[in-house]
Amino acid sequence: MGTENPEEIVLSGISGSQGICIGKAYLVDREGVDVIERYYLDPQNVKKETNRFKQAVNKAKNELSAIIEDIPEDLRQHAYILETHLLLHKDKMLYGKTIELIENEQINAEWALRKASAAAKAIFRNMSEPYLQARAADIEHVADRILRHLMGTDDVDISGINKRVILVANNLSPAETSQINLDRVMGFITDRGGKTSHTSIIARTLELPAVLGLEQATAVIKSEDLIIVDGNEGIVIVNPAEETLLRYEELSRRYEEHKKEVIRRGDLPATSADSKLFRIMGNIELPEEVVAVKDHGGDGIGLFRTEFLYLSRIDFPGEQELFDQYKEVVELMAPLPVTIRSLDINGDKEISTMPTPEEANPALGLRAIRFCLKRPDIFKTQLRAVLRAAAHGYVRLLLPMISCAEEVTESIRLLDEAAAELDEEGIEYSRDIEIGIMIEIPSAALMADMLADLVDFFSIGTNDLVQYTLAIDRGNRHVAHLYNPLHPAVIRLIRHVVDAGRHKNKKTYMCGEMAADPINLPILLGLGIEELSMAPQSIPEIKNLIRKINVDDAEKLMSTLLAQSSAADLHQIIKDNYGELLFEDIYAE
Ligand code: PEP
Ligand code: MG
Repeated sequence: MGTENPEEIVLSGISGSQGICIGKAYLVDREGVDVIERYYLDPQNVKKETNRFKQAVNKAKNELSAIIEDIPEDLRQHAYILETHLLLHKDKMLYGKTIELIENEQINAEWALRKASAAAKAIFRNMSEPYLQARAADIEHVADRILRHLMGTDDVDISGINKRVILVANNLSPAETSQINLDRVMGFITDRGGKTSHTSIIARTLELPAVLGLEQATAVIKSEDLIIVDGNEGIVIVNPAEETLLRYEELSRRYEEHKKEVIRRGDLPATSADSKLFRIMGNIELPEEVVAVKDHGGDGIGLFRTEFLYLSRIDFPGEQELFDQYKEVVELMAPLPVTIRSLDINGDKEISTMPTPEEANPALGLRAIRFCLKRPDIFKTQLRAVLRAAAHGYVRLLLPMISCAEEVTESIRLLDEAAAELDEEGIEYSRDIEIGIMIEIPSAALMADMLADLVDFFSIGTNDLVQYTLAIDRGNRHVAHLYNPLHPAVIRLIRHVVDAGRHKNKKTYMCGEMAADPINLPILLGLGIEELSMAPQSIPEIKNLIRKINVDDAEKLMSTLLAQSSAADLHQIIKDNYGELLFEDIYAE
């Protein structure tokens, strides 16, 4: 039949979750939602149409509630994603806007919903932070579910799969991903989605290999095709040749062995080969994630992104709600430190119920500390909650997007004002808080010697520092190939920050993605970063590698590294000197 030796095809995507699996593809079809008709209503039918829409929303909500109830125990911590989806069903941007469109434009519910969801998605996509941009996908999943009820098409039933397969889908929603049966599904790949999508967050929790953003997977792969998913490298190999298959079987075996060993040793301290101790911390967005940090041997929370409570709602959260959340995290981690980062959102949020006058460059706009200082009422509510939580454990406050000294002094003034108010009101709090700033704007890096006088520590946010230093939009796929934390300019800035801090006896930490990539580790230790913070799942591996590195040697290599003019040269030198040590366990021949 000519199918004996189908050609081996390699597809490249984004690594959503590490690991390797080999198996038969199972294509998840999902049709019906894309073809939407538009038609106009007779005025007397408008009410009927809004009712039809409301019914579909209720059915979608009931369906999702049932899925939430059935979520297996090990995924419970992610139920919040679906609970947010539940809230989104009645969100003004989606629900209110759709009804408004049906009534005002007298169009059918499907078309109105599509229009409302497109507008809502655009608002999120225009936000500067990838995390917030990725929330556009949440709107889409919710709108899709309602649409299916309007149109009477079926959901993808993943729970019914009865053999061990690799899922191949155009896109998987968090609700679908949460139904994945671990006995049946070895891994999954999708055409869409990216690193910050909730689907990949869940894949990492499930510790299932996943490659996302493949674009062509559902077009190229057929059910029953043999495929290899390499979540470490972000590639998928379709119809592998004999020798590829053998190589990957061996790699997969080694990877599993290695992972077990590394996790087993996760609780041990990260002490380098020459006996220097480093703290390896976890990045979290919600209290539920503290468990993952502890399970993976985290030495504290190096970055608590506090945006989540401010999203998917119209008002701003109150002090008590914030306090309850922060206190929970602080108590769970005590006596280890919890670094609470103050709000890092766009000003858009303030008027999320209305389309906002767009900022031409949101990443350079009214964001983070700039927004907070413009709205001291909102900022102080958060600062009061942080001060109150500090009475229950070890709290650090981290200020994002600092670009000049005035922003720091003004923030500290507001913090003191908040403390004085709490004092007066007789409310328990502690002012014993270490104050740090994110170094993520080149101006702050260059001013580090002066800023060091104002704060207790620096935390380098490489996700933004790379973006602003190299003028590369961190969410723009067209320039993603230029985004490189090993660019000599970035390394020089980091060195300047660490040196300036040391001069004033202030420590420098790092909480951007750069900290979690093994290739960067020798250079970060050599530069003198004292604490690294990352996604919980990366902690054991980084701890494991630190134990093998001699920091003195890494420092000695710095003069050679700093003399290079390109990221590629830096990369090569690290690989030549540390390649075997960093990758010996899995990829060594
Ligand atoms: C960073 O910019 O590196 C960072 C950690 O902050 P965020 O990714 O939340 O912008
Ligand atoms: Mg940042």
